This record gives sequence, C-alpha cells and structure tokens, in this order.
Amino acid sequence: MNKLKGFIEHLDESELRFVKRFIEKGEALKLVDQKIVEKRSEEWNRICPVCNSLISNDSITLIFGPEDFRKKASFCATDCLEYFIQKLKQNKNDSIQKVEGEINEHRP
Ligand SMILES: [Zn+2]
Repeated sequence: MNKLKGFIEHLDESELRFVKRFIEKGEALKLVDQKIVEKRSEEWNRICPVCNSLISNDSITLIFGPEDFRKKASFCATDCLEYFIQKLKQNKNDSIQKVEGEINEHRP
C-alpha cells in the first residue's frame, strides 16, 4: 500500500487526472484482476495444482483458456494432468476458475 501511495505522490497533475480516469473507467480493476490471475498462474507452474508437489524440470504443461485469457498449468505427472482434464470435462459448462477453485479446496 505504501508503494502505491508513494507512486501517486510523485505524479504531476496531468498524470493524476489520467490515473483518475483509469480508475473511473474500471480499467484499474481489470488490470489488477489480470495481474492476480498471472501471479496465480506463476504459482501454478511451481507446484502441481492437483497433488501439491513441487514441479521438476520434466513436468507436463497445459496451456488453455480463450485467446485473450490464456493460462498455463504444469503438472508433475500424467495422472495429475488426466485428473485435471477429467475435472474440466465434468465441469464443461463451468468456468476454468470454478475447476481451479474445486481443486484448491481439495488440496491438503
Ligand atoms: Zn501432481
């Protein structure tokens, strides 16, 4: 929060007006949401989202989702990839986020 405060304090008036418009148009929220997804995605590529074990160099990576919202998840083994795909099939009408949420709920 202090970083954000410090950043805003160093802006001049025209930059502040730009930031204000950016927030009012909802662009700031979109950007923050996108960054949260990216950060989570980075996390997903270090730890297998299914069994929670650390990913080694010979992991299997799946890239999925719509073109403007591509996501990447790495799995420790084919079993975990299969489990994830099965979950996707079962929930084909639900969003990927819901599948991720369900898997996260079952994490130890
Ligand atoms: Zn795994």
